[in-house]
Amino acid sequence: MTDLTIPSPEPLLPERLARAITLGGPIPLSQFMAAANAHYYGTRDPLGTRGDFTTAPEISQMFGELVGAWIADLAARAGVENSRYVEFGPGRGTLAADALRVLGKAGMRPAVHFVENSATLRSAQAERVPDAEWHLDLVGVPEDGPMLVVANEFFDALPIRQLIATGEGWRERLVACQDTLFLPVAGDRGFDMIIPKHLREAAPGSILETSPASVAVLRGLAARLEKQGGAALIIDYGYEGPAIGDTLQAVRGHQYANPFDAPGEADLTAHVDFGTLKEAAEVEGLVVHGPVSQGAFLKALGIEARTEALARVAPDRAEQLAADRDRLIGDQAMGELFKVMAVTAQGWPVPAGFA
Ligand code: SAH
Repeated sequence: MTDLTIPSPEPLLPERLARAITLGGPIPLSQFMAAANAHYYGTRDPLGTRGDFTTAPEISQMFGELVGAWIADLAARAGVENSRYVEFGPGRGTLAADALRVLGKAGMRPAVHFVENSATLRSAQAERVPDAEWHLDLVGVPEDGPMLVVANEFFDALPIRQLIATGEGWRERLVACQDTLFLPVAGDRGFDMIIPKHLREAAPGSILETSPASVAVLRGLAARLEKQGGAALIIDYGYEGPAIGDTLQAVRGHQYANPFDAPGEADLTAHVDFGTLKEAAEVEGLVVHGPVSQGAFLKALGIEARTEALARVAPDRAEQLAADRDRLIGDQAMGELFKVMAVTAQGWPVPAGFA
């Protein structure tokens, strides 16, 4: 039985956060970000031209189709028959629908499991992929048989902590408030002991981000892949860190906003540290491929030929198809900023796009 119900977040998030801070003192940025995003995603569908932001699968069906082809090729070469399609944060379900269509043509009909904590987005996903099963994490996903996992723009939405260099050493960046005006402050506790050696002498004001939540999710996923076989494809904007830099950003109505204004009303994200995720996967015994740029990955999978094939069938759409392709792979668009990393269980073939 499909159960789409999750309690909707309570209204008045700023008031609730302000009360918590007034009573208990400044809170870690991770707590602020987790509360803001749970409210944000739980109360709306943020995607598309009328929403706050657009993602690759919403730009073009080619994105999900190429991901589907990537999975079909890998599963065939790995010789698996009974696998599961698992997607983290599937948004509107567009990527899954496009990928599953291609898998169907390749004769694969995997059971579909979505890890999603927004009731609103679960409904949108159910319209496109009615047979899916929904989960809050991997615990309920069956442990038999390989998993083929996709996560596009999922890890960037998970909470980060920030450490800031001050004249008195490294401190955690906390969120304080005056009434319901929120602002970052440096905490009292010293954190020098967890700063990588080569970054310890950074100039005051330097910021180092970590995402314990992302590492925990990735390690949990990696442990399951190691046990039951399979692969995961992780796509997001990011860098190979740890590195100095403040990447926390808020997007509202396709514009950047102050991340501390109106918590729960803007999408809060941070760039993904692929270096740290890579290490986390390796600790669990997985093989890591990449990261490579999204542009290089989609070109290796044949996005150019796919664009031409679609344009031949629908010549009146040729210009739009070429524009969409350029948004996905262009150096000044998503092609360079977005990275693609795959992790596979030991003994699995090298996936396409990472040769
Ligand atoms: N992958 C989609 C949507 C990206 S937006 C696309 O490319 O279009 C981020 C997605 O992750 C949303 O579906 C959001 O509800 C989900 N999400 C964010 N934080 C989550 C969490 N902690 N647990 C489960 N899902 C989460």
